[in-house]
Amino acid sequence: MGSGVVELVAGYHRFRDRYFVSDRTLYEGLAQMGQSPLALVVGCCDSRVDPAILTDCRPGDLFVIRNVANLVPPCESGGLYHGTSAALEFGICDLEIPELIVLGHAQCGGIRAMIEGVKRSSSFISSWMQMAGDVCTRAREVANGRPFIRTCEQEAIRLSLNNLMTFPWIRDRVEKGMLTLHGWYFDLEAGELLRYEPQTGLFKSL
Ligand SMILES: [Zn+2]
Repeated sequence: MGSGVVELVAGYHRFRDRYFVSDRTLYEGLAQMGQSPLALVVGCCDSRVDPAILTDCRPGDLFVIRNVANLVPPCESGGLYHGTSAALEFGICDLEIPELIVLGHAQCGGIRAMIEGVKRSSSFISSWMQMAGDVCTRAREVANGRPFIRTCEQEAIRLSLNNLMTFPWIRDRVEKGMLTLHGWYFDLEAGELLRYEPQTGLFKSL
């Protein structure tokens, strides 16, 4: 085994020790009652931005969908494998989660790849990031002195919030007050979470 995997196995044994002491009641309850998460989070795959760690959550608290650059595609019926849309459907329609957070972050490799143009022109990343193609144009319009990459990262969160509303079962729940959408941005260096304010169009500290 590589040293990275050895660390993971050691972590698993620490988890098992806790599981049979303090967390067992929690897991037994979740196994018997099923999950009823507080929130659904669409986050980035980036290993530095784990939604459950950032919010100090316990098992069962968060339903997390992670993909490159925390993007939500528009509601489309074409194609075959809509992983993000399928997970959204399960979380919203089946689990009826009442809060949905799009969690973006600073130093996002997916956003940087989109700005710089990924080297492999036919890669999965470049075709995935095409959905955020308008973000750069919009960021140039609204940057107003802010760093360009940071503005793109935050505009991508706004894009995902807009795309969420193209799903009829999300729009319907939002309009009925059964579901609330949030845009959050994690600044890695400052260790700070910011929240999108629709009234001002700006991201402010939580
Ligand atoms: Zn990222």
